[in-house]
Amino acid sequence: MAHHTDALVIGSGLSGLVAACTALDRGRTVTIVEQEGPQSIGGQAFWSFGGLFLVDSPEQRRLGIEDSLELAWHDWEHTAGFDREDDAWARRWADAYLDFAHRDLRPWLRELGVSLFPVVGHAERGARTEGGHGNTVPRFHIVWGTGPGIVSPFTRQLREAVREGRARLAFRHRVTELLVEEGRVVGVAGDRLAEDVTVRGEPSSREVVGDFELRAESVVVATGGIGGELERVRELWPASLGAAPTQAVRGVPVHVDGSGLALAGEAGARLVNGDRMWHYTEGVGNWDPIWPDHGIRILPGPSSLWLDHRGRRLPSPNYPGFDTLTTLGHLRSVGAEHSWFVLTQSIVEKEFTLSGSEQNPDLTGRNLRRLAQRILPGAPAPVQAFLDHGEDFIVAGSLTELLDGMERLGANADGTTIDRAAVVAAIEERDAAVADPDSTDPQAVEIRRAREYIGDRLVRTARPHRILDERHWPLIAVRLRTLTRKTLGGIQTDLDSRALGADGEPVPGLFAVGEAAGFGGGGVHGYRALEGTFLGGCLHTGLRAGRVI
Ligand SMILES: Cc1cc2nc3c(=O)[nH]c(=O)nc-3n(C[C@H](O)[C@H](O)[C@H](O)COP(=O)(O)OP(=O)(O)OC[C@H]3O[C@@H](n4cnc5c(N)ncnc54)[C@H](O)[C@@H]3O)c2cc1C
Repeated sequence: MAHHTDALVIGSGLSGLVAACTALDRGRTVTIVEQEGPQSIGGQAFWSFGGLFLVDSPEQRRLGIEDSLELAWHDWEHTAGFDREDDAWARRWADAYLDFAHRDLRPWLRELGVSLFPVVGHAERGARTEGGHGNTVPRFHIVWGTGPGIVSPFTRQLREAVREGRARLAFRHRVTELLVEEGRVVGVAGDRLAEDVTVRGEPSSREVVGDFELRAESVVVATGGIGGELERVRELWPASLGAAPTQAVRGVPVHVDGSGLALAGEAGARLVNGDRMWHYTEGVGNWDPIWPDHGIRILPGPSSLWLDHRGRRLPSPNYPGFDTLTTLGHLRSVGAEHSWFVLTQSIVEKEFTLSGSEQNPDLTGRNLRRLAQRILPGAPAPVQAFLDHGEDFIVAGSLTELLDGMERLGANADGTTIDRAAVVAAIEERDAAVADPDSTDPQAVEIRRAREYIGDRLVRTARPHRILDERHWPLIAVRLRTLTRKTLGGIQTDLDSRALGADGEPVPGLFAVGEAAGFGGGGVHGYRALEGTFLGGCLHTGLRAGRVI
């Protein structure tokens, strides 16, 4: 296949689309090569909840949230925990991202026709101790239209460019090699895969029907992370998080396979921070799966009681939605393959949001009538479907029934299950704390504090009540497993998204963006993320690469 193009982008996820559209805006011709079919355009971002981290936005100010660039930097630094020489570029990227999220991101979104849901979420609330992780204030802005809402302005622009002959989309082309001549990346080679009509997200065939070679002035690696490859995740699992989980669910499609990272490494790019990852502890099996072992993440409010595999209450700050990696580390350290939320119907109705565009048809479909139902009694329909069909959900009319269900579902590899007395003691401890307005129990304090913020009071935090208060029943227990999602390390890049080599100098002709580049610099997040910074990082890195290309 002979074809001239100025820029060649590997991967049609959000970061690749943004790099391509920005380069097109500047008069370049672009070819996108993508191993999946046209039905998968947008990659992970299509499935995403569309949460974006912004700093000191009009949405925050309207809700009385006092944010600033200084506060955001303080939170980022304490959360990232940068501690390696390799973090030098990541720090610069973090600084640049915060500036972008403070100044340019929102006006640009408006220009693209992307608007934001007015209630700002408080993701990754963190421990409120000096030097603790997390967001001091709410910063999670949801795109009106969720994942598809952030992808569509770019797919529209690209299709227009295809019609005008300025862009080309080569689907079912899997890159297996970056072509290097005299130290410069000059193109790609790979396999042409058989046409495949599986629906978006389902694994597609890997039958090879031919090969291809394409040349370009600039090659952009936009191939995503490794979260779909459970074995690879286990191999790279950091010792600081204990042993790798054996029973993880997959939070991303299987095409998130990390192949681009290896290709870039072979072409001379420097791969850093492979041991830094962002996986969740609140994964449940999807009752209606799209990809194998498909897990859904619960975005929880603060009121559920969180217990380990034996039924013991997790120590502070491991409360729902507070500190992802500390909780994951704690669970791994006590040998828990799963943990439990114990809650009431009142809590599930107000506090359970499921991450993913398809799990939020009201926001994704921009449907105000359906959205209004969130503040009416009853669980949102997708949450109700999990209560009815989810393999990890127990809905019980009595405490005994709840404990029986947990005992049945919670078999551990060593033959143990929950300790019933520990569960009852934990429920009673939490209930006593929540019922006492002067309690200093950290979770009770955080629930009260959350309700001081109007956004939480409206849609995210139930009125405090005892779990054993029958007026709020049925009782619910949810078995939670590790859910793989994001790769925080990747190809080290400079602020123009140019891939750097072992000597720290740019590899001529090679760029990297999005998750493949650790969302900037090979790991802009350090060890931990503040949430909404992944889509934000794709927009930011793609923009910078596209401008330079
Ligand atoms: C359910 C879900 C919810 C999420 N919610 C949020 C959220 O609210 N906020 C947030 O910030 N982030 C969220 N994320 C994370 C975010 O969506 C991703 O980190 C981001 O979209 C990654 O984009 P990307 O362009 O880097 O890679 P991807 O979207 O993974 O795209 C990479 C593309 O490259 C292709 N590719 C890979 N290797 C090759 C090869 N060798 N040859 C050809 N093509 C190749 C792949 O097929 C794929 O299409 C969520 C993710 C999921 C799955």
